[in-house]
Amino acid sequence: MTKKVPLLINGEMVQSKTQHWIPVTNPATQEVIAEVPCATPDEVNHAVAMAKAAFQTWKEVPVSDRARVMLRYQALLKEHHDEIATLLSQETGKTFEDAKGDVWRGIEVVEHACHIASLSMGETVENVARKVDCYSYTQPLGVCVGITPFNFPAMIPLWMFPMAIACGNTFVLKPSEQDPLTPMRLAELFQQAGAPAGLLQIVHGTKDVVDQLLVHPDTPAISFVGSVAVGEHIYKTGTDHMKRVQAFAGAKNHMVIMPDAQKSHVINNLVGSSVGAAGQRCMAISVAVFVGASREWIPELTDALAKVRPGVWNDPQAGYGPLINPQAKQRVLRFIQEGKDAGAECLLDGSDCKVDGYPEGNWIGPTFFKGVTTEMSIYTEEIFGPVLIAIEVDTLEQAIELINANPYGNGTSIFTASGAAARKYQHEIQVGQVGINVPVPVPLPFFSFTGWRKSFYGDQHAYGKQAVRFYTETKTVTARWFEDDLASGPNMTIQLK
Ligand code: NAD
Repeated sequence: MTKKVPLLINGEMVQSKTQHWIPVTNPATQEVIAEVPCATPDEVNHAVAMAKAAFQTWKEVPVSDRARVMLRYQALLKEHHDEIATLLSQETGKTFEDAKGDVWRGIEVVEHACHIASLSMGETVENVARKVDCYSYTQPLGVCVGITPFNFPAMIPLWMFPMAIACGNTFVLKPSEQDPLTPMRLAELFQQAGAPAGLLQIVHGTKDVVDQLLVHPDTPAISFVGSVAVGEHIYKTGTDHMKRVQAFAGAKNHMVIMPDAQKSHVINNLVGSSVGAAGQRCMAISVAVFVGASREWIPELTDALAKVRPGVWNDPQAGYGPLINPQAKQRVLRFIQEGKDAGAECLLDGSDCKVDGYPEGNWIGPTFFKGVTTEMSIYTEEIFGPVLIAIEVDTLEQAIELINANPYGNGTSIFTASGAAARKYQHEIQVGQVGINVPVPVPLPFFSFTGWRKSFYGDQHAYGKQAVRFYTETKTVTARWFEDDLASGPNMTIQLK
């Protein structure tokens, strides 16, 4: 019988009473490996109520004890790293090494959450007025909610619940219905690490469950990662309901290639960052902007891309895996066709891609277009597949103008040997994460993940100090202790003296 994915409510793995189940498939074979429930409204309410009850106790737990849960958790995640990556590969199709990277980038956030005591320190100023001191604390918000996408089923849940819980909150996670097995395993290990029942609740489902969590009166903070259309809905609905919302959305990431860059560095980095993970990364490079004579490297780049072939998760020769589902594959095929119809030159066409022994897999081979203009849908839309497009310009200024005119602002990079060009680029580009000779500049957790413009709605970003600000309120205390009981008469001004 197909495995039925449980809900996690108040520390118990429970089977949903719903009639609506969604198949979870292996994207290389279409084999149904599990079924995930669309939780009922009562189940969602129960999860929030249990998280609310657990908050009353957890918010009083000393910060060092909260950190100790995270210390045990990061150790357990490391111990089970390969096992989690294997599970993750099976439900996403990612290659094993890439799946390990997905888990690792999440573990790093848990390591960061171990520093919660120093991260959540407030500020103090002595003698703001004579014998009056002022100091601030951070205090948790209550039940925080996380809604996560399919493409990083370990890393993105781990961006959210460890930081929120370390800050003293409790958490309700609604993972992607396409790959819920990895987040469930993360939750089991969290409990094994000694996390009290109720800190982390997991409900499954799609729009109905998300919308219920968004308007629930007891969920003050919402973290979302996913597509732009859903992100806009989440941000608007959540803020309309007076919640704190951070919504990380889609992307179109450009790499600028200056003619003074080293050709082999450019080609190697561009291949991995464009078609790696089948292009299903929000920080994947999808547009290569060739400046001046660097356009001469396009034929060599085409050859390098042609050598990459997709394959199954445990094939060590595979450059990347299948797309997540047949609909995602059809969507990418549609863009490839639209690019051709619009007159772009398809130098490499991965539409008809086959992998021996896996005829049902959602395969698309590396695809590369040149002669792309900014009106074409292959430029304006996030394709989310192994498709790279090239745009040629004459100057760095033109490259900057092009990228700043694109509505997205998640990540970008410049490859150059010139410090002056790199400095100009980092200063003038309106994108939140910039790589200089680094193709995928995902910040480590002591910084924050800082997408801009249409790639992010909200103020405070994921992990780092910004996550502490997002998941806490600041309370500021102004205190005076009288040394005598002599009355000095009423003070009629707002000024402290
Ligand atoms: P998605 O928007 O389809 O789904 C994300 C989550 O929202 C899932 O949990 C899903 O169940 C839920 N959802 C789907 N439709 C909904 C609706 N109508 N109302 C409410 N909830 C809904 O995204 P996806 O396909 O799972 O993930 C890929 C997208 O995520 C890409 O656009 C990618 O760029 C983006 N992404 C962004 C970042 C970032 O940091 N900016 C990181 C990873 C992924």
